[in-house]
Amino acid sequence: LIEVKNLKKAFGDNVVLRDISTEIRHQEVLVVIGPSGSGKSTFLRCLNLLEQPDGGTITIDGRNLMDPANKINEIRMELGMVFQRFHLFPHMKVIDNIMLAPIQVRKWPEDKARKNALELLAKVGLADKANALPDSLSGGQAQRVAIARALAMEPKIMLFDEPTSALDPEMVGEVLNVMKQLAKEGMTMVVVTHEMGFAREVGDRVMFMEQGVIVEEGSPKQIFEAPTQERTKSFLSKVL
Ligand code: ATP
Ligand code: MG
Repeated sequence: LIEVKNLKKAFGDNVVLRDISTEIRHQEVLVVIGPSGSGKSTFLRCLNLLEQPDGGTITIDGRNLMDPANKINEIRMELGMVFQRFHLFPHMKVIDNIMLAPIQVRKWPEDKARKNALELLAKVGLADKANALPDSLSGGQAQRVAIARALAMEPKIMLFDEPTSALDPEMVGEVLNVMKQLAKEGMTMVVVTHEMGFAREVGDRVMFMEQGVIVEEGSPKQIFEAPTQERTKSFLSKVL
């Protein structure tokens, strides 16, 4: 579904992604782990062109993202993104936050967008919060709304950048459960997280990044129980 080849990205002379190549298969859950500053967020942001790569290619469904002939907005619609911070529009009700992009970008009629938004709210366990304002929600609720909002665009792939790391510990589980459910339904997902339990349980593959390279990737079992690289072992000994 996604093919990344020799991806490179630098900010000035800070080379953040050195040479990243990997493939993400349909319905796969790829978990990306690694120390702070290793380039995890930059990698995700390159996948939907929030950052412009300096080199290499990214192909989604056979379409090269870097080819100017391919409309970036159309490709971007296929990727939903959830950040550490929720970025909900504070002056809009929950339901309007979710309906906004489908109406404005996908040109859905309002009733269709509303019906879809209500279904998504039910799916993330917040059917009763449709008319609430974001400020009245807990962090875990707000993040679940952010997930529903991303899903409202019917993306083929969901990208998560540390979706639980800004949350109080008691709210982490409710967000991970929604993500787990999505994975079960067959969503293709790339998840940057420090939640090693989630990586183990839900991940099909774990990728360990350091200093802009993929040090090692493999099944959760292989990475957690039998890492082959010293750097992976040393990182895991600090986080497990
Ligand atoms: P963390 O675990 O702390 O989120 P990360 O693995 O996500 O780290 P990145 O955010 O990708 O790491 O950052 C990698 C490097 O790129 C860091 O040195 C960071 O300072 C730099 N960087 C990231 N975004 C920018 C930017 N927009 N402009 C300049 N430098 C940036
Ligand atoms: Mg990051």
